[in-house]
Amino acid sequence: MPRSLPPRMLATDLDGTLVGNREGLSRLKDVLQAHAGRWMLVYATGRTLSQGRQLQEDEGLPEPDVWVTEVGAAITYKDEGPDLAWRGKMAAHWNRDFVERTALAWPELTPQPVEANGDFKVPFRVAPSDAAEIFPVLTERLKAGDSPALLVYSSQRDLDIIPAAAGKGAALSHLMARFGVGLADMLTCGDSANDRDMLCLGGPAVAVGNAHAELVETGLPTTVLRAKGHAADGILEALTHYGWLELDPPGVAR
Ligand SMILES: [Mg+2]
Repeated sequence: MPRSLPPRMLATDLDGTLVGNREGLSRLKDVLQAHAGRWMLVYATGRTLSQGRQLQEDEGLPEPDVWVTEVGAAITYKDEGPDLAWRGKMAAHWNRDFVERTALAWPELTPQPVEANGDFKVPFRVAPSDAAEIFPVLTERLKAGDSPALLVYSSQRDLDIIPAAAGKGAALSHLMARFGVGLADMLTCGDSANDRDMLCLGGPAVAVGNAHAELVETGLPTTVLRAKGHAADGILEALTHYGWLELDPPGVAR
């Protein structure tokens, strides 16, 4: 990664946040282009990298500087490829076969298609009524088997089991430390429960107008901007709200 990159990051979820409002996305793309180089662009998604790239192609999304995929369990740089240190951290206490086998003991958990699976993400579908009962027991069993995990439940339907050290917020903290980005210079954008930890990092953050009730109605700090605009329009609203569109170009002292 060249040293000239500015120490600011715009980190956005993809489904329902960057993507989901065609006209808004087109407006945002123009703004991103006009402000190219003012901040690093980070995609933080539950998708695997290949699923993310497919969406990027389908929607004509700009190339990000960093991909945070599998709900923060994998980090890939535009210039350098995978972050091997992060990968090592994820692998330290993680036995994928054990995680999958343990979860499959519950018939209420329906495995997701093979392409949704990652090295560090085991995805299922499960009804909310079953989730509450199963999650504490499953969490305990994984911990007992030296694969402590986070059970990330989104959209009242999707369960992603990831290493306990993963999560979008943890991955972004790793990036902040690596690139010397301060909290005030990390803008996070999301719409569902798996975005909660990154929106709660303490820096500028936005829940887009179409955000799920599971995110906005359950203890989101009041410092997080609740945008009116849906998806990309909500990101634009945040860029304006936090003054990022008036930021100096890189190289100009603040
Ligand atoms: Mg989303």
